[in-house]
Amino acid sequence: MKYLVLFAILAVVYLLWRGQQRRARADAPPRPQPRAADPALPQDMVQCPVCALHLPRNEAVADPQGRLYCSPEHRASGAR
Ligand SMILES: [Zn+2]
Repeated sequence: MKYLVLFAILAVVYLLWRGQQRRARADAPPRPQPRAADPALPQDMVQCPVCALHLPRNEAVADPQGRLYCSPEHRASGAR
């Protein structure tokens, strides 16, 4: 009988503790995730015509003709 009461107290403490943990987790703001750095997202890859480097489209540098380069330096040398 003594152990049953002890077990009941432990169970109540455990349930209270678990409820508090869940509430604390719900109060915490979700971690901000930078979209560009998410490796799970498929990235549209483009190739620099100067050095043949492949890079994500959002990191490429475009010239007035719409060609995409890896850097402003290669855009300048590719425009020539
Ligand atoms: Zn390049």
